[in-house]
Amino acid sequence: MKRIYLDHAATTAVHPEVIQAMLPYFSERFGNASTLYSYGQEARQAMEEARNIMARFIGAKSSREIVFTSGGTESDNFALCGTAWANQKRGNHIITTPIEHHAVLNTCKFLEKTGFKVTYLPVDGYGSVDPQDVKKAITDKTVLISIMHANNEVGTIEPIAEIGKIAREKEIYFHTDAVQTLGHLAVNVDELQVDLLSASAHKLYGPKGVGMLYIKKGTRIVPLLHGGDQENRRRASTENVAGIVGFGKAGELAGRDMEGEGRRLSFLRDKLIKGILEKIEFSQLNGHPTRRLPGNVNVSVKYVEGESMLLKLDGKGICASSGSACTSSILEPSHVLTAIGIPADVAHSSLRFTFGRENTESDVDFVLEVLPVIIKGLRLMSPLYQEKRG
Ligand code: PLP
Repeated sequence: MKRIYLDHAATTAVHPEVIQAMLPYFSERFGNASTLYSYGQEARQAMEEARNIMARFIGAKSSREIVFTSGGTESDNFALCGTAWANQKRGNHIITTPIEHHAVLNTCKFLEKTGFKVTYLPVDGYGSVDPQDVKKAITDKTVLISIMHANNEVGTIEPIAEIGKIAREKEIYFHTDAVQTLGHLAVNVDELQVDLLSASAHKLYGPKGVGMLYIKKGTRIVPLLHGGDQENRRRASTENVAGIVGFGKAGELAGRDMEGEGRRLSFLRDKLIKGILEKIEFSQLNGHPTRRLPGNVNVSVKYVEGESMLLKLDGKGICASSGSACTSSILEPSHVLTAIGIPADVAHSSLRFTFGRENTESDVDFVLEVLPVIIKGLRLMSPLYQEKRG
């Protein structure tokens, strides 16, 4: 059976060119980048090249503004705790949204337990934050604003540049979680006016377990990990050289392919959305209709459980998601769908398809062929649906 992978927001397959770039750093160039002999220096050089690529890719002024981490989660933790702790004397207030990834939300909850106050801004029915709400929430105790560049579940792109302008005027640090956008949308730290930006390699055809945090020069931040002097004393631990090289290669390839790929994936996205809404009654799109990630389709198909649809789709070789991968084992409605005002029963009947480089139009056609049949079958067993139809 052909497998159709439509869960690129959860993770992506490592690009063959990325694998090739990484391979030597597991074997003949295995050195520790902190050592002085040539093995180590070769590793260091490759790592610094990757740092240069990533700095250029996001428009950083210097590669010293890039700290490699173990992934998006660590980058988010580092950005939030690092700036909160370093600026405690200035204040204890953080502003964020209820639709952030758990890497941000649970870090905020942790900080709340240690005396920080967190404002969770409202979002509208699409999941968009109003920059004026950010402005109103700022107090003289606010030390950090953290708002994601685009949402991983519903794909909505936030007005980061407008919020960045407000944060800069008020001289408050601004962090964005760009885990879902780097490599998929143009990300420029100057244009977005951010001081901190998190990203993760495995969302752009790089390896898992590598991420980065952009820290604008002059930002007051303390490290999370203490130990050696790696990463300009900002993150101790022997560097994951192969992973970092892979991240650099993934960034380079994304820089080359992103524009054309964005157009291609938007076409697939729009075709699938249109097809689902036309073919399946009681279906709705979640997230913003236009300001959304190129490959993201999130729909609710009322009177059918998301999990049942996923299992049936899996039976046809289609991998999708019913929320975010990290929470798919929890049977609570998605916190994102709940925050955008979707009732729990409708949130439970949601499906997310996220396209990537291997997908073609025939994948969309196949989903549009099998999904209505799956739903028809499941609805036959749904008393609520039968009731609705009379
Ligand atoms: N932030 C967002 C928006 C994400 O989508 C994810 C992963 O799904 C993360 C953070 C966590 O990244 P990582 O898996 O690299 O820890």
